[in-house]
Amino acid sequence: MIVVMQSGCAQADVDHVVGLIRELGLTDHVIVGTDRTVVAAIGDKRGVDMSALETSPMVDRIVPILAPYKVASREVKKEPSVIPIGTGGAAVGGQKVAVIAGPCSVENEKQLMAVAAAVKSAGAVGLRGGAFKPRTNPYDFQGLGEAGLKLLAKARSETGLAIVTEVMSIDQVDLVAEYADVLQIGTRNMHNFNLLIAAGRTEKPVMLKRGWSATLQEFLLAAEYIMSEGNQNVILCERGIRTHESYVRNTLPLAIIPAIKRESHLPIVVDPSQGTGHAYMVPAMSRAAIAAGADGLMIEVHPDPEHALTDGAQSITPAGFGDLMKDIRSISGAVGRSS
Ligand code: PEP
Ligand code: MN
Repeated sequence: MIVVMQSGCAQADVDHVVGLIRELGLTDHVIVGTDRTVVAAIGDKRGVDMSALETSPMVDRIVPILAPYKVASREVKKEPSVIPIGTGGAAVGGQKVAVIAGPCSVENEKQLMAVAAAVKSAGAVGLRGGAFKPRTNPYDFQGLGEAGLKLLAKARSETGLAIVTEVMSIDQVDLVAEYADVLQIGTRNMHNFNLLIAAGRTEKPVMLKRGWSATLQEFLLAAEYIMSEGNQNVILCERGIRTHESYVRNTLPLAIIPAIKRESHLPIVVDPSQGTGHAYMVPAMSRAAIAAGADGLMIEVHPDPEHALTDGAQSITPAGFGDLMKDIRSISGAVGRSS
């Protein structure tokens, strides 16, 4: 249920509504919009008497929330969320398309600094790079751990790029949050509810990747889980799903972009690298994603893809990324955005 406040209500009116919601044994989420403040009341409302809420000062109306994902839904918040990332003024979800780029994994200082400088000068606002790597084969390279996080922090201080890096387990959350600007939760962990809770208790924005066999509804419910812990800064990332097709590593369903825009106020970015598995497909799918209304892209870039320790086949070169950014700029302009 959403309590829609009248425009111009005072903080004391909102606090009063929050107090009543808590007295009713429900959980409150205050969402301050540009026009209206709404308070979502989450929990089992069977047998609960709403009359006190309905007659509270400055309450406009009470609306039931139909979607199972509540605070992530458009019903609760009409205007799109803009999620600031890092301290340099970058954001995901605004008019400007946000491009995050970098290696699949942090391998060494030379590799990371070269990519960071190149993607920054081409126009990226974020640097990606895994220090903790989930692998399909456990005997493969699993990342540099904290040494990798330190290199990412160094790249941030040299370039000003916001750092996006994966956290794989609850015991890594504090450590990764100390270095990262955005906590990435990978496809294999979208259903790891304990990890979602832990990320929801941090102050850092979370980039949640869609589970490779999750439905749109499960994806939004996972986002909801993070938000219900108090962290409203969730960025959704479509990274492809598993299908019967074998010419791609994953099938990248771009139709999720308009669907998410209809269902949720959260921004969505597309990862065409995991989404296809092939470097040659990355530019076309990046252009298509922006044309379809994505709020950003997350792209794997490596100075020497042939010798990359992870995901070389789907990594583009810094020169290729420079060319792609030019295309992204023209497509962004064509759909009323900038980049
Ligand atoms: C990655 O971004 O390198 C990655 C491992 O992503 P995903 O969780 O989507 O597989
Ligand atoms: Mn990868």
